[in-house]
Amino acid sequence: MNSESGKHRVRAKLETRAQELTERLELQSVRSCYICRTCTSSCPVTFIDPRFNPLAILRMVLYGKIEEVLNSDFLWLCTSCYSCQERCPQEIPIADIMTKLKNKAFKLGNAPVGVRAQMDIIKKAGRTYPLDDFDNKKRAKAGLPELPTSCDVVKTLFESETESLK
Ligand code: SF4
Ligand code: SF4
Repeated sequence: MNSESGKHRVRAKLETRAQELTERLELQSVRSCYICRTCTSSCPVTFIDPRFNPLAILRMVLYGKIEEVLNSDFLWLCTSCYSCQERCPQEIPIADIMTKLKNKAFKLGNAPVGVRAQMDIIKKAGRTYPLDDFDNKKRAKAGLPELPTSCDVVKTLFESETESLK
């Protein structure tokens, strides 16, 4: 096998894998994008950090660069605010696609340390910031109602959800 046909085979294999991933994650809707850029101009993250660009991510998925997206740091900058999705004239579920990509990246072990740490805290306490009696005393002083210190329902829900991500 010469090096040219070897490269061709590797490229074909990568393209097939990208195609499979796109189908498995049900991301085919990105094909109807006509590059109006409404998503990018609506995105608050792009506004403060132009390195993050929802349209660029969709194009990468469309052009078979899905693995690059799954291995990236920038994917995790999406705050799931849904501004892009609500305004897309083609009704492409952009924010949902970001979530699917993040879930897949998580399954592949590509979630940032901070995200994994937050997940561990929620699994233990049911909240990202555990509350205790001290917090409730401060709330009482501020005239706020007491909050339950345990959040077992959320904890149970979160545990079952993260199991399904494994
Ligand atoms: S708003 Fe929708 S159609 Fe316009 S560029 Fe973004 S994804 Fe494409
Ligand atoms: S959901 Fe994500 S990509 Fe869409 S506008 Fe919000 S931060 Fe940007």
